[in-house]
Formats: sequence, structure tokens, C-alpha cells
Amino acid sequence: MAVPKSKITRMKRGFRRSHDALTAFNPNECANCGELKRPHHVCSACGHYDNKEVVAQADEIDFEDDAA
Ligand SMILES: [Zn+2]
Repeated sequence: MAVPKSKITRMKRGFRRSHDALTAFNPNECANCGELKRPHHVCSACGHYDNKEVVAQADEIDFEDDAA
């Protein structure tokens, strides 16, 4: 196993960790429903992307069709 040659000082450790912070995501408004959504992702509220419905929402699906 690799063994560190010397102790990393608090300063050096801090320099390294200065780039570790996560950045907050930058929400966009959905063009269809106005809900905040992740950019380049399907809207989680209405299932639209690029003003087209690409994911059917569960409350709009008629489950009675398969019951035959
Ligand atoms: Zn939407």
C-alpha cells in the first residue's frame, strides 16, 4: 500500500478542497406548464420537452384498455 511521505498541511489540504464544492443546478421554466425543470431534461411535472409531450403522465393513462 502506498504510504504518504509527509503530512499534508491544513493549508495544502484546503487548497485541494477548494474545488470540491458542488454547484447548484440552474433551473429553467418549462415552456408548457411553467414549472421549474432541469435544463435539457423532460419536465417532471407535465412530461413535455421542446413543447411536445414525450412522457405520458400517469393520471392521463386509461388503464381500463388492457383489461380485455
Ligand atoms: Zn412542464
